[in-house]
Amino acid sequence: MKFIGAHVSAAGGVAKTPARAHAIGAKAFALFTKNQRQWQAKDLTEKEIESFKENLAEYDFKPEHILPHDSYLINLAHPEADKRQKSLDAFIDECRRCEQLGLTKLNFHPGSTLKKISEDEGLSLVAQSLNSAIKETESVIMVIENTAGQGTNLGYRFEHLKAIIDQIEDKSRIGVCLDTCHTFAAGYDLRTPETYTETMQKFDDIVGFSFLQGAHLNDAKSTFASRVDRHHSLGQGNLDINPFRCIMQDPHFDNIPLILETIDDSIWEKEISLLYSMVED
Ligand SMILES: [Zn+2]
Ligand SMILES: [Zn+2]
Repeated sequence: MKFIGAHVSAAGGVAKTPARAHAIGAKAFALFTKNQRQWQAKDLTEKEIESFKENLAEYDFKPEHILPHDSYLINLAHPEADKRQKSLDAFIDECRRCEQLGLTKLNFHPGSTLKKISEDEGLSLVAQSLNSAIKETESVIMVIENTAGQGTNLGYRFEHLKAIIDQIEDKSRIGVCLDTCHTFAAGYDLRTPETYTETMQKFDDIVGFSFLQGAHLNDAKSTFASRVDRHHSLGQGNLDINPFRCIMQDPHFDNIPLILETIDDSIWEKEISLLYSMVED
């Protein structure tokens, strides 16, 4: 079964997110559990936590279909130790917030070398940071997102995801999220059934679908292999609608959150119903 939703606003508090997702026909959703552009955040209160959990139950969302996203400021590969530590502390705080909310996954971008270290060194630093975060937290699965590879961002090759996973001590705590726009911009084609199958086979060979914990469904303003991260509404960008039909009919994408981060939130409801109409029973 497919669980489709969008990255909904947490304005006014995380407890408001389940109703927002429900209102657009979502069966899954993503959220920030704190302001994504600030380092500091107030702790979640008991009241917020309780009402988030009540609202999840009320609208019938399961924790495994929710994919919280961490702050954009965090860089677990930061070449400077003090700045990397600051990122790690913030990341651990994000993990704990998820656990307090009863959520099971946290989605993050691997990080950036800032041109100061090699990609291999950066990937090892990410893995070290994650190993520390795993020890400091209870249960949340850390879900690495593949990236477009803009600037000095890591994570644009499936081999990068594998290199991180290989260095994680407790593999029950690590997963990946495939973003369709990032995949395409990084140079993996998805536009025809043939290229879709080829790319997914590569992903399975290198990373393995057993690690797939979620996906971001975005069309791309960016062009193929451009290493530029620009999302578009479904069917309006360079990916067009084919890849999304392929995903809707691909059992590898069953039972995980499939999240829109498309640019026009006023049509999310339509995009979600379009996606559901493409699922073959
Ligand atoms: Zn994404
Ligand atoms: Zn993106």
